[in-house]
Amino acid sequence: RGSSPSLHHATLRQHHQRRLLNHFISKSPSSADPIIPKTSQFTLAVKDNIATTSPFPTTCASDILSNYTSPIEATIVTQLRSLGANITGKTNLDEFGMGSHSTHSAFGPVSQDSSLKDPISAGGSSGGSAVAVANKEVDLALGTDTGGSVRLPAAYTGVAGYKPSYGMISRYGVIPYANSLDTVGFLSRQVKPIRELIAGFNSTESAEEIALWKYHDSKDPTSLSLSARLRCAKQREGYNKEWDQTRLNGLKFGVPLEYNIEELDPRIRDAWAAAAERLEQKFGAKIVPVSLPTTKQALAAYYVIAPAEASSNLAKYDGVRYGKRNEEASSDAAGGVLYAATRGKGFGEEVKRRILLGSYTLSSEAMDNYFIKAQKVRRLVRRDFNRVFALENPLQESETFELSDLPDNIEMEDKWGPEEVDFLLCPTAPTLAPKLADVVDQKSVDSYMNDVFTVPASLAGLPAISIPMPVASEDGTKTAGLQLIGQYWDDARLLGVAEAMS
Ligand code: GLN
Repeated sequence: RGSSPSLHHATLRQHHQRRLLNHFISKSPSSADPIIPKTSQFTLAVKDNIATTSPFPTTCASDILSNYTSPIEATIVTQLRSLGANITGKTNLDEFGMGSHSTHSAFGPVSQDSSLKDPISAGGSSGGSAVAVANKEVDLALGTDTGGSVRLPAAYTGVAGYKPSYGMISRYGVIPYANSLDTVGFLSRQVKPIRELIAGFNSTESAEEIALWKYHDSKDPTSLSLSARLRCAKQREGYNKEWDQTRLNGLKFGVPLEYNIEELDPRIRDAWAAAAERLEQKFGAKIVPVSLPTTKQALAAYYVIAPAEASSNLAKYDGVRYGKRNEEASSDAAGGVLYAATRGKGFGEEVKRRILLGSYTLSSEAMDNYFIKAQKVRRLVRRDFNRVFALENPLQESETFELSDLPDNIEMEDKWGPEEVDFLLCPTAPTLAPKLADVVDQKSVDSYMNDVFTVPASLAGLPAISIPMPVASEDGTKTAGLQLIGQYWDDARLLGVAEAMS
């Protein structure tokens, strides 16, 4: 299961190494041979929960879809192919995007290094895409980011990983995990190619065609309308503009105090401080402490909302409507037997755990205590962000809800500082990439902890990017992720700043 049959073109050594990394689920037979791309062409790896047509299957790393090939191609794949992308293959992930280490896969775990002893986690759930980029096997990779699945693997593998504003990039053909949070994300070794794709650039005639931010997709109901796109962009700058370091001068970066948690690895804390200092001294930016009081509750709210939406999305995989049927189940018994046998066999442990969790929090006796409270926390998370950013949120909801609506354990004293910032600066994850051996047996709740710095931006639908941040460690320099978060639809500036900083 671990390797794909089309790898036979590669040399044995490459084969051996790739099998250990296990980052591709399927590969284009031609791409195993070295190809010299034409200037306008680039190689692309696609996470296997994003639909591609034959010859590539789209498995979501699930047994239930292990023989599935999609009749349609995701809009983003079509867009990138029209810009010159050659698909190298489909990458391994946590089943349906649920996980943080790419270990919950029906095709076995991904590793970011090929050492037999102590392989290291690639992060998840877009771990396969991150490894393909880090290994220089592709120029660009697509991932999905629901609560950090592009940013976390980018941080662990030392590449750039960008999650766009919610509703910017079409999700048509992306197999849903949690609809209110899902985004398509991009991984690359440099920020520049990502910025040029999203925001356009003004040095060529074709800039207009390249800017993905402009494209409304009528096939995706969550894709922002063209008029809303233009209205949002009008309040923003940096679309179709070149960036250089001088533009960082005078920008204000907020350092959220609540992100300085006890669990933060001291080496990452030091690197974070060094990054802030460099921004001030080298680029003339201003660093200000800010408060995002709902940070701690955000993680809990995410792990209520995401499984709730997942339980509803995954209901269709029952062996009748979708999914590989468990043929051993007696088909003439009441439908429930077939459904249960198909789902029991076809889904992995973590997916089943999320379905149970989601079905419970949506049940009538638990709804008020979990799902409704989580939605309220989500609004507070958005409000926290809107208070610290200098730019207004063009989708801002009116703040009409009562303080008595708040969950009891959220204190509402005057924690917000007066400063209004351009971007937030924080680590992507609280630890360095762990050893796979240390995470495979980890309790789920412990691995949920990894997402503490990435889920707030997801809950608020904000753009965020992780760029490599050097970390001094006893055994040499390692890499972690530095995360920048921007106000809604401030993607062009966010990418420009990230490019200038890296
Ligand atoms: N680790 C998070 C989860 O398991 C985020 C996953 C994602 O962004 N797809 O839900």
